[in-house]
Amino acid sequence: VGVDVQSGSHRTESSAPSLVVLGCDGSWPGPLGACSGYLVRSPSTTLLVDAGPGTFANLQLVIDPATLDAVLISHHHPDHWIDLHGLATHAQFVSGRVGIPIMTPSGVAERTQLEHSPSLAWTSVDDGETVQVGDISCTFRRTHHSGITLAMRFDFAGHSLGYSADSGPEWDLADLGADLDLVLCEATYTRSDEGKAGHMSGRQAGEQARRAHARRLVITHRWPTVDAASVRDEAESAFGGPVEQAVIGKEFIL
Ligand SMILES: [Zn+2]
Ligand SMILES: [Zn+2]
Repeated sequence: VGVDVQSGSHRTESSAPSLVVLGCDGSWPGPLGACSGYLVRSPSTTLLVDAGPGTFANLQLVIDPATLDAVLISHHHPDHWIDLHGLATHAQFVSGRVGIPIMTPSGVAERTQLEHSPSLAWTSVDDGETVQVGDISCTFRRTHHSGITLAMRFDFAGHSLGYSADSGPEWDLADLGADLDLVLCEATYTRSDEGKAGHMSGRQAGEQARRAHARRLVITHRWPTVDAASVRDEAESAFGGPVEQAVIGKEFIL
């Protein structure tokens, strides 16, 4: 199953709750790549979760930007929000949309310099908060990363989805709950790079998901210079089961 973003075909299973990958490169975009950005879709609600470089281009192959119900940004690093500029400018000159709800940790609005954009209506969220957008409930949990970085848990239509955002291994993914249908977890590099930055290896992501009893693990945020198969192989060994990789345009049905 999937949305073929490359050819611009439209979503066929319009009622199935899903996660659509708009970008999955870690920290910087690789050639023809895009950084973190995802659509979380229920039958009636569409959320944009992170908006890294390249994601707004890919978003337009999947949905009309004017139909977004809300935008959630995990933290202040620009590989997770720079395309808010494209979204805001498109809203200003094309869709005419004003006040798109956007939820972020405190300080992110100022960092983007879009805090006064009429296109966006900012709300600060913090560790432990739950917000409801349409039929999707979203709970935020602070990870171990830079500044305030918020992982997210989505509950909707009898399904649950967890997103690690960025985090080092010191944070416990099980903070999102131990009954997740699918976990989207960062796995930035392989075990040989563990400790190099505030991120996790494939091995660490797999261990986290196993400890959290996640039913399905999708890894993301790989540095473009790191071999994809190596990260997945060590994630599968640690998870004890198959692990899927985020790929631009791929849709994971929940
Ligand atoms: Zn990042
Ligand atoms: Zn980060």
